[in-house]
Amino acid sequence: MTSLNRVTLKPGDTVGILGGGQLGRMLAMAAARLGLKTHIFSPDPDSPAFDVVQKATCAEYADVEALELFASDVDVITYEFENIPASAAMILAARRVVLPDPKVLETTQDRLAEKNFVQSLSIATAKYADVGSAAGLKAATAAIGLPAVLKTRRFGYDGKGQAMVREGYNADAIWSDLQTKSAILESFVPFEREISVIAARGADGEVVCYDVTENEHRDHILKFSHVPAKISEALAAQARDTATRIATALNYVGVLAVEMFVVPGSSGTTLMVNEIAPRVHNSGHWTLDGASISQFEQHIRAIAGWTLAHPIRHGEVTMTNLIGSDIDGYAQWLGKPGATVHLYGKGAARPGRKMGHVIEVKPAKPTGK
Ligand code: AMP
Repeated sequence: MTSLNRVTLKPGDTVGILGGGQLGRMLAMAAARLGLKTHIFSPDPDSPAFDVVQKATCAEYADVEALELFASDVDVITYEFENIPASAAMILAARRVVLPDPKVLETTQDRLAEKNFVQSLSIATAKYADVGSAAGLKAATAAIGLPAVLKTRRFGYDGKGQAMVREGYNADAIWSDLQTKSAILESFVPFEREISVIAARGADGEVVCYDVTENEHRDHILKFSHVPAKISEALAAQARDTATRIATALNYVGVLAVEMFVVPGSSGTTLMVNEIAPRVHNSGHWTLDGASISQFEQHIRAIAGWTLAHPIRHGEVTMTNLIGSDIDGYAQWLGKPGATVHLYGKGAARPGRKMGHVIEVKPAKPTGK
């Protein structure tokens, strides 16, 4: 593995991105704005990011030769999703600086390792227990109580690989339906709202957080983000501090998202960390038009070894995801005053597929005269 963990790019240099979805596409567009070239590596020939770059490699993550050629063509490597196979990350990291450091993935690819890490920082999470069998599920529910949520340790997203566990549950049926060998059981958190902090950490250790985002899900998929979140300034400061501590403890370089629950209680409202996403995140899309610098540009600055921006928010912002057939309404959104429309250029609008998003900004009222 290379001993370097930072680079300083020059305009005209090339950023390599693993993954060709909408996040890779928006990262590539941000890199272009900064005079950087992008090379996308993705196994999917229909990758929406391929449309906006000059250089693309369509190959499997197990294709060592393709990985080596990709590494030799770029000046730094980053990724748009967290399930990069560890073997691919190792091959690349031996040849080029990969940021954030792939070691971060060992923590964030596994819900149990992630929860253990968060708790090691004395940051609250839901109660949780490791589960490896139907008998283990029974023991875990006895330990942490019901209702609870059973989640696969790896590869879960948008509510996939999750099951609610309620009184009278059938442990054998739930366990076999989840089709996994390793899971965690989390106590069900009766949250008041869900929030996230999008934070960037530069190679010099500086951390810059965006204003706290409030997120609304439909069918486990993010539907709306509202900024600022309707929480007290003290809680918002605590949320930003939590994300900052996590980014620092991971020795992170780039943008990450920390999802949290806001939990009412008899002794006040508290925060619990639900998940860390080691990448740009859907709940940060509002920054494209709602802030002076987007999360995508901020990520590129961080991995390029450039100065982080201190973004200014333009007002109250709402981001609406266009999911599945929502995309059919794009023409109405185009006509809505103040709305900016982002379409990802994907083919089939399958149910649950993120096809685009819309950002609406209500400018802050001028203060003073
Ligand atoms: P996740 O994949 O962990 O981000 O979970 C997806 C969504 O499921 C979250 O955004 C919450 O709405 C819900 N959820 C996950 N874990 C819990 C929990 N322990 N208690 C209550 N709701 C949860």
